[in-house]
Amino acid sequence: MITNALSVDVEEYYHAEIFRHGAGGLPPHGLESRVERSVDRLLGLMADHESRATFFVLGEIAAHHPAIVRRIHAEGHEVGCHGDRHENISTMGPDEFRADIGAAKRRIEDLIGEPVIGYRAPNFSIGPGQRWAYQILADEGFRYDSSTFPIRHDRYGEADAPRLPHAVWGAGAIRLLEFPIGTVRLMGVNLPIGGGGYFRLSPFTVTRAGIRHVNIHERQPIMFYLHPWELDRHQPRPPMAWRNRFRHYVGVGRQDEKLDRLFARFAFGTARDVLEAWSPRFAAAGAARAAPPASGGTSAA
Ligand SMILES: [Zn+2]
Repeated sequence: MITNALSVDVEEYYHAEIFRHGAGGLPPHGLESRVERSVDRLLGLMADHESRATFFVLGEIAAHHPAIVRRIHAEGHEVGCHGDRHENISTMGPDEFRADIGAAKRRIEDLIGEPVIGYRAPNFSIGPGQRWAYQILADEGFRYDSSTFPIRHDRYGEADAPRLPHAVWGAGAIRLLEFPIGTVRLMGVNLPIGGGGYFRLSPFTVTRAGIRHVNIHERQPIMFYLHPWELDRHQPRPPMAWRNRFRHYVGVGRQDEKLDRLFARFAFGTARDVLEAWSPRFAAAGAARAAPPASGGTSAA
């Protein structure tokens, strides 16, 4: 049985672009933090099924909720990085991007005492115009990225990007791998089966059939992703247009039950473990597991 990669983008409901955009920006007095209770439920669900995951933690969350980050790590999951402030890379220049990921990475590494080697961009915002980000990720000590969604979508996605893990940057022995979000290719079209709103919206059997297809016919793992707020039916509901409301809240009330079925049906591990099984070269590089955390700004070349 193939082990697929499971990932969680650890952020608040108000970091989600549709919430932020739909509610007309964040209110000046802030919103209630709800991330800890949702992560708690996710950790419980995963423990029930012995599923392991990579939690891509936002630097802001690591700063305000250190205990939950330590707990994720202590329960045997991988801790990755989701940037510091949840800004899209397309709005940053290279220097700003380096500062953002460097700050977040060091904050997380200080909490878990281990190098962080995986990165996911907010809103999958590494597109064709942001390829420069790969070398900066490698310089900062990252060994893989998971920020590509090879589908057609109005806000993100790159329909003709490779669907399976592949190298996107290399210099000497240092390589940066890309692990795209899971899709199944049917009749010349990539269909999303890797989580997010698509998983909440579509029947469970569609996701199940898609993952099975990739695992059995292509003999490849998929990358599945979700957010803690997707399990939180009691999160605030500020006024927003029906389209944004639908996209942010659809299926939130049934997410626990659906995830329970998903974790029961498939084996899930961390992105690092899945990539080590997938690429002997990635495993041989030790994936920086035993190396000290990279210091900021050093060149890998
Ligand atoms: Zn995010």
